[in-house]
Amino acid sequence: MLLRLTHLAFVSRGPAQPRPDAIAIVEGSSPAAPERVFVPGWLPCGECTLCRRGLAGACARGVTPVATALTSDARPGTLDLPDRFLCPIDQGNPDAPLSDAVAAAAGAVATVIEAHARSGLGPGDTAHWTGAGVLAQIGTRVATARLGGRATESDRGVHRVFIDSDDDSLASQALAAVGPGGTVTYLGARPAGLAAWSGVPGVRVLLGCGGYDPDFIPEALATLRRREIDVAPFLDHRAWQTSDSILTPSPYPGDAIVVITL
Ligand SMILES: [Zn+2]
Repeated sequence: MLLRLTHLAFVSRGPAQPRPDAIAIVEGSSPAAPERVFVPGWLPCGECTLCRRGLAGACARGVTPVATALTSDARPGTLDLPDRFLCPIDQGNPDAPLSDAVAAAAGAVATVIEAHARSGLGPGDTAHWTGAGVLAQIGTRVATARLGGRATESDRGVHRVFIDSDDDSLASQALAAVGPGGTVTYLGARPAGLAAWSGVPGVRVLLGCGGYDPDFIPEALATLRRREIDVAPFLDHRAWQTSDSILTPSPYPGDAIVVITL
Protein backbone atom coordinates (compact mmCIF):
# COMPACT_ATOMS: atom_id res chain seq x y z
CA MET A 1 0.00 0.00 0.00
CA LEU A 2 1.39 3.40 -0.96
CA LEU A 3 1.71 5.86 1.92
CA ARG A 4 2.58 9.51 2.22
CA LEU A 5 4.50 10.27 5.40
CA THR A 6 3.14 13.25 7.34
CA HIS A 7 4.86 13.09 10.73
CA LEU A 8 7.96 11.49 12.18
CA ALA A 9 8.33 10.44 15.79
CA PHE A 10 11.62 9.87 17.55
CA VAL A 11 11.52 8.21 20.92
CA SER A 12 14.79 9.23 22.50
CA ARG A 13 16.88 6.16 23.12
CA GLY A 14 20.38 7.50 23.57
CA PRO A 15 22.96 7.26 20.82
CA ALA A 16 21.36 4.33 19.01
CA GLN A 17 20.77 4.60 15.29
CA PRO A 18 17.52 6.53 14.90
CA ARG A 19 14.59 4.40 13.83
CA PRO A 20 11.86 6.98 13.44
CA ASP A 21 8.26 5.87 13.54
CA ALA A 22 5.88 7.70 11.24
CA ILE A 23 2.32 8.77 10.82
CA ALA A 24 1.24 8.42 7.21
CA ILE A 25 -1.80 8.88 5.03
CA VAL A 26 -2.87 6.14 2.67
CA GLU A 27 -2.51 7.53 -0.86
CA GLY A 28 -5.84 7.66 -2.61
CA SER A 29 -7.94 7.78 0.57
CA SER A 30 -10.59 10.49 0.77
CA PRO A 31 -9.17 13.98 1.35
CA ALA A 32 -12.20 14.68 3.56
CA ALA A 33 -11.48 11.65 5.76
CA PRO A 34 -7.91 10.60 5.13
CA GLU A 35 -6.99 7.12 6.28
CA ARG A 36 -4.18 7.54 8.79
CA VAL A 37 -1.82 4.75 9.79
CA PHE A 38 1.02 4.34 12.24
CA VAL A 39 4.15 2.99 10.55
CA PRO A 40 6.56 1.20 12.90
CA GLY A 41 10.11 2.45 12.52
CA TRP A 42 11.40 -1.06 12.94
CA LEU A 43 10.20 -4.27 11.32
CA PRO A 44 11.93 -7.33 12.81
CA CYS A 45 12.82 -10.28 10.59
CA GLY A 46 10.47 -12.64 12.45
CA GLU A 47 12.74 -15.62 11.88
CA CYS A 48 15.93 -15.25 13.92
CA THR A 49 16.54 -16.71 17.37
CA LEU A 50 15.67 -13.46 19.13
CA CYS A 51 12.42 -13.05 17.20
CA ARG A 52 11.42 -16.62 17.98
CA ARG A 53 12.08 -15.96 21.67
CA GLY A 54 9.70 -12.99 21.59
CA LEU A 55 12.50 -10.43 21.57
CA ALA A 56 11.70 -8.90 18.22
CA GLY A 57 12.80 -5.46 19.41
CA ALA A 58 16.34 -6.76 19.78
CA CYS A 59 16.42 -8.44 16.35
CA ALA A 60 19.53 -7.47 14.39
CA ARG A 61 18.19 -8.48 11.01
CA GLY A 62 15.14 -6.28 10.63
CA VAL A 63 14.60 -3.26 8.42
CA THR A 64 13.94 0.43 9.08
CA PRO A 65 11.31 1.30 6.47
CA VAL A 66 10.76 4.92 7.49
CA ALA A 67 14.45 5.83 7.69
CA THR A 68 14.98 4.13 4.35
CA ALA A 69 12.10 6.02 2.74
CA LEU A 70 13.47 9.33 3.98
CA THR A 71 16.84 8.77 2.39
CA SER A 72 15.51 7.30 -0.85
CA ASP A 73 15.87 9.45 -3.93
CA ALA A 74 13.19 7.56 -5.80
CA ARG A 75 10.05 8.85 -4.12
CA PRO A 76 11.04 10.93 -1.10
CA GLY A 77 8.45 11.04 1.64
CA THR A 78 6.49 8.08 0.33
CA LEU A 79 6.61 4.48 1.34
CA ASP A 80 5.20 1.26 -0.08
CA LEU A 81 4.53 -1.39 2.57
CA PRO A 82 2.38 -4.51 2.81
CA ASP A 83 -0.89 -3.92 4.68
CA ARG A 84 0.08 -6.25 7.49
CA PHE A 85 2.70 -3.79 8.76
CA LEU A 86 0.29 -0.87 9.03
CA CYS A 87 -1.71 0.05 12.12
CA PRO A 88 -4.90 2.08 11.50
CA ILE A 89 -5.07 5.02 13.90
CA ASP A 90 -8.77 5.85 13.75
CA GLN A 91 -10.17 2.34 13.81
CA GLY A 92 -13.22 2.09 16.05
CA ASN A 93 -12.95 5.68 17.18
CA PRO A 94 -14.32 7.94 14.43
CA ASP A 95 -15.81 10.52 16.78
CA ALA A 96 -12.80 11.42 18.89
CA PRO A 97 -9.75 11.05 16.70
CA LEU A 98 -6.28 11.04 18.14
CA SER A 99 -4.14 13.95 17.09
CA ASP A 100 -1.17 13.06 14.93
CA ALA A 101 1.21 13.97 17.72
CA VAL A 102 -0.50 11.76 20.29
CA ALA A 103 -0.71 8.86 17.85
CA ALA A 104 3.02 9.30 17.23
CA ALA A 105 3.59 8.35 20.87
CA ALA A 106 2.39 4.80 20.19
CA GLY A 107 5.96 3.52 19.77
CA ALA A 108 6.88 4.66 23.27
CA VAL A 109 3.69 3.23 24.76
CA ALA A 110 4.23 -0.07 22.91
CA THR A 111 7.71 -0.28 24.41
CA VAL A 112 6.44 -0.09 27.97
CA ILE A 113 3.48 -2.39 27.30
CA GLU A 114 5.89 -4.96 25.88
CA ALA A 115 8.21 -4.61 28.87
CA HIS A 116 5.28 -5.03 31.28
CA ALA A 117 4.02 -8.08 29.41
CA ARG A 118 7.45 -9.64 29.35
CA SER A 119 7.92 -9.10 33.07
CA GLY A 120 4.59 -10.71 33.89
CA LEU A 121 3.28 -7.56 35.58
CA GLY A 122 -0.26 -8.22 36.72
CA PRO A 123 -2.99 -6.82 38.93
CA GLY A 124 -1.80 -6.03 42.42
CA ASP A 125 1.89 -6.11 41.55
CA THR A 126 4.08 -3.17 42.37
CA ALA A 127 6.17 -1.72 39.59
CA HIS A 128 9.12 0.63 39.69
CA TRP A 129 10.76 2.28 36.69
CA THR A 130 14.26 3.51 37.44
CA GLY A 131 15.42 6.84 36.06
CA ALA A 132 13.39 9.81 34.96
CA GLY A 133 13.40 9.49 31.16
CA VAL A 134 10.31 9.56 29.01
CA LEU A 135 9.90 5.76 28.94
CA ALA A 136 10.20 5.57 32.72
CA GLN A 137 7.54 8.22 33.16
CA ILE A 138 5.18 6.66 30.63
CA GLY A 139 5.89 3.23 32.11
CA THR A 140 4.87 4.42 35.56
CA ARG A 141 1.61 5.83 34.22
CA VAL A 142 0.75 2.76 32.16
CA ALA A 143 1.50 0.41 35.05
CA THR A 144 -0.90 2.35 37.23
CA ALA A 145 -3.66 3.06 34.74
CA ARG A 146 -3.75 0.08 32.48
CA LEU A 147 -2.57 -2.99 34.32
CA GLY A 148 -3.77 -2.21 37.80
CA GLY A 149 -0.18 -2.56 38.97
CA ARG A 150 0.74 -0.12 41.66
CA ALA A 151 3.51 2.14 40.49
CA THR A 152 5.72 2.94 43.40
CA GLU A 153 8.46 5.27 44.49
CA SER A 154 9.54 2.60 46.94
CA ASP A 155 13.08 1.38 46.44
CA ARG A 156 12.73 -1.92 48.29
CA GLY A 157 10.78 -5.13 47.80
CA VAL A 158 9.19 -4.23 44.45
CA HIS A 159 7.73 -7.05 42.31
CA ARG A 160 8.66 -5.73 38.88
CA VAL A 161 11.53 -3.32 38.30
CA PHE A 162 12.31 -1.79 34.91
CA ILE A 163 15.46 -0.10 33.78
CA ASP A 164 15.89 1.92 30.62
CA SER A 165 19.54 2.87 30.90
CA ASP A 166 22.98 1.35 30.67
CA ASP A 167 24.03 3.47 33.64
CA ASP A 168 25.58 1.11 36.20
CA SER A 169 24.44 3.16 39.18
CA LEU A 170 20.84 2.87 37.99
CA ALA A 171 21.41 -0.84 37.45
CA SER A 172 22.54 -1.17 41.06
CA GLN A 173 19.50 0.80 42.16
CA ALA A 174 17.26 -1.57 40.20
CA LEU A 175 18.86 -4.63 41.80
CA ALA A 176 18.49 -3.14 45.27
CA ALA A 177 14.83 -2.32 44.66
CA VAL A 178 13.59 -5.71 43.48
CA GLY A 179 12.14 -8.02 46.09
CA PRO A 180 12.48 -11.81 46.46
CA GLY A 181 11.01 -13.65 43.48
CA GLY A 182 10.84 -10.42 41.54
CA THR A 183 12.07 -9.54 38.10
CA VAL A 184 14.28 -6.84 36.68
CA THR A 185 13.56 -6.08 33.04
CA TYR A 186 16.00 -3.92 31.18
CA LEU A 187 15.45 -2.18 27.89
CA GLY A 188 17.98 -1.10 25.38
CA ALA A 189 21.73 -1.13 25.90
CA ARG A 190 23.07 -3.63 28.39
CA PRO A 191 24.42 -2.22 31.63
CA ALA A 192 28.14 -3.05 31.83
CA GLY A 193 27.61 -4.78 35.15
CA LEU A 194 24.89 -7.07 33.82
CA ALA A 195 26.91 -10.24 34.31
CA ALA A 196 26.76 -9.72 38.07
CA TRP A 197 22.97 -9.59 37.99
CA SER A 198 22.54 -13.27 37.36
CA GLY A 199 24.07 -14.06 40.74
CA VAL A 200 21.36 -12.36 42.78
CA PRO A 201 19.24 -15.01 44.54
CA GLY A 202 15.53 -14.96 43.89
CA VAL A 203 15.71 -12.38 41.12
CA ARG A 204 15.13 -13.07 37.46
CA VAL A 205 16.77 -10.66 35.04
CA LEU A 206 14.90 -10.50 31.77
CA LEU A 207 16.43 -9.47 28.52
CA GLY A 208 14.54 -6.47 27.33
CA CYS A 209 13.66 -5.02 24.02
CA GLY A 210 16.12 -2.82 22.16
CA GLY A 211 13.20 -1.29 20.39
CA TYR A 212 9.67 -2.62 20.50
CA ASP A 213 7.81 -5.44 18.86
CA PRO A 214 5.40 -3.89 16.29
CA ASP A 215 2.80 -6.43 17.39
CA PHE A 216 2.26 -4.24 20.47
CA ILE A 217 1.34 -1.12 18.46
CA PRO A 218 -2.42 -1.84 18.14
CA GLU A 219 -2.65 -2.25 21.92
CA ALA A 220 -0.69 0.98 22.40
CA LEU A 221 -3.01 2.88 20.05
CA ALA A 222 -6.03 1.48 21.89
CA THR A 223 -4.54 2.67 25.20
CA LEU A 224 -4.12 6.16 23.74
CA ARG A 225 -7.63 6.15 22.23
CA ARG A 226 -9.15 5.33 25.61
CA ARG A 227 -7.22 8.29 27.09
CA GLU A 228 -5.88 6.01 29.79
CA ILE A 229 -2.70 8.04 30.01
CA ASP A 230 -1.84 11.59 29.00
CA VAL A 231 1.26 11.68 26.83
CA ALA A 232 1.04 15.41 26.06
CA PRO A 233 3.71 16.32 28.64
CA PHE A 234 6.22 14.15 26.77
CA LEU A 235 5.67 15.48 23.27
CA ASP A 236 8.15 17.92 21.83
CA HIS A 237 7.22 19.39 18.47
CA ARG A 238 9.76 20.44 15.91
CA ALA A 239 9.07 22.08 12.60
CA TRP A 240 10.88 20.67 9.60
CA GLN A 241 14.21 22.41 9.31
CA THR A 242 16.85 20.92 7.04
CA SER A 243 17.28 17.58 5.39
CA ASP A 244 20.37 17.05 7.55
CA SER A 245 18.34 17.28 10.73
CA ILE A 246 15.72 14.78 9.69
CA LEU A 247 17.39 11.75 11.22
CA THR A 248 18.79 13.58 14.20
CA PRO A 249 16.94 12.72 17.38
CA SER A 250 16.58 14.97 20.39
CA PRO A 251 19.93 16.21 21.74
CA TYR A 252 18.52 15.42 25.17
CA PRO A 253 18.07 11.65 25.25
CA GLY A 254 15.16 10.56 27.33
CA ASP A 255 13.55 13.97 27.57
CA ALA A 256 10.84 13.77 24.99
CA ILE A 257 9.17 12.15 22.07
CA VAL A 258 10.16 14.44 19.25
CA VAL A 259 7.43 14.82 16.65
CA ILE A 260 8.42 16.43 13.38
CA THR A 261 5.79 17.58 10.93
CA LEU A 262 6.79 16.96 7.35
ZN1 LIG B 1 14.74 -11.33 13.90
